[in-house]
Amino acid sequence: MIHRHTLARLAAELRARKLSSVELARAYLERIQASQPLLNAFISITAEQALAAASAADAALARGEGGALTGVPIGHKDLFCTAGVRTTCGSRMLENFVSPYDATVVSRLRASGAVMLGKLNMDEFAMGSSNETSYFGPVRNPWNTDLVPGGSSGGSAAAVCARLLPGATATDTGGSIRQPAALCGITGIKPTYGRVSRYGMIAFASSLDQGGVVTASAEDAALMLREMAGFDPRDSTSVDTPVPDYVAGLDAPLEGLKIGLLKEFFDAGLDPDNERCIREALAVFTRLGAKVREVSLPNISLSVPAYYVVAPAECSSNLARYDGVRFGHRCKEPRDLTDLYKRSRSEGFGAEVKRRIMTGTYVLSAGYYDAYYLKAQRVRQLIAADFQRAFAEVDVLMGPATPTAAFAIGAKTADPITMYLNDIYTISANLAGVPAMSVPCGFAQGLPVGLQMIGPHFAEQRLLHAAHRYQLETDWHLRIPERFA
Ligand code: GLN
Repeated sequence: MIHRHTLARLAAELRARKLSSVELARAYLERIQASQPLLNAFISITAEQALAAASAADAALARGEGGALTGVPIGHKDLFCTAGVRTTCGSRMLENFVSPYDATVVSRLRASGAVMLGKLNMDEFAMGSSNETSYFGPVRNPWNTDLVPGGSSGGSAAAVCARLLPGATATDTGGSIRQPAALCGITGIKPTYGRVSRYGMIAFASSLDQGGVVTASAEDAALMLREMAGFDPRDSTSVDTPVPDYVAGLDAPLEGLKIGLLKEFFDAGLDPDNERCIREALAVFTRLGAKVREVSLPNISLSVPAYYVVAPAECSSNLARYDGVRFGHRCKEPRDLTDLYKRSRSEGFGAEVKRRIMTGTYVLSAGYYDAYYLKAQRVRQLIAADFQRAFAEVDVLMGPATPTAAFAIGAKTADPITMYLNDIYTISANLAGVPAMSVPCGFAQGLPVGLQMIGPHFAEQRLLHAAHRYQLETDWHLRIPERFA
């Protein structure tokens, strides 16, 4: 039953020497292996290294040493570079790529004592909302394996949902932490842009990408994020402000918190069952002494079109480096340099990645740059200004994380626009660079629903605090699919 414990409890029991890290790693590895044919949450399982790291953690604990996470098993989304263990980004392009160095997130979590059990499946280059674009096959939702877990951090979310791991890293460019967290019924936080180092985190859209975590509870998220966050001189977009102790003060009362209900998020596309769960969650906050009022973000309807110009534009540039020469897949027997580029990229990238590269190249081309890219950047400013106005009046914005609960595998793959619209409630926080979370808040026809909370820049602590207080009143975050209970 160890797998039912939260990450915070595991860390405490390891420190108290009530548990051994090796025993814990073994128990989780067994669950991982057994789940793999069903969920496909992992791309690489690193049992040998994990057991070695776990036994080193036990030795450190025996000496009375160790950091905040010593001995705690975790997994990394397979776009965080890990020296000596392949990093595929869910793509054939990087199927055999082994990075010569660790991402800062990876080295920081290792320094805090966490033990990596493997690398988690994801949409190819983090492009997707359902984890169906991975070269390594789709991930399945542990609540119902005919359904998607959400994407692009679907492996991370499914693994935590099925308690194959107590916590995992993830990334969010337009919703990829919050959306799968919502569809799997777990807690996920996307910090402020610049809060977590992107060094060694394979780039999709650099002005939007941000690393974060998925865990069962907000307290667990606070614990993991505290170890990951902070200034990194190797990432020029990393912000040099101190990281508060996210765990301290989680229990403080919520009395007086000003919550803004995101008016535009309660639109025609929102499933009535999801809406019911969200409204019930808001009633819990009211009971806790928060004041709820409606807030409008008038430009929010422009967020999806603006994102699907900016993100492809940046990805077309970031992915130019995969040329068959320096990184990743190289075609067999190229006739000349052009043939090498063409065939290596045609063979290495999947359909969604190609679609994005083509869109991005188009919107950046001479003649269209002003009409699309520049226009999208202007819209982005308007959305950021909407948030700024809202946060002058309220402390936290709340609304749904997704329009519906998890959908069937294959249901939306034929129509990219329908798929893109799934991000309608998450994308604006990335465009504005503000932190946002998804917290489990109920079930719609047996499937989890996520409450989204958005805060002003660097207000991670405020979000985690509100989520934790809500989780003291509710047990949605502790529900586990029967099959994995
Ligand atoms: N679903 C969005 C996309 O496909 C967001 C993905 C992400 O956040 N990485 O671009």
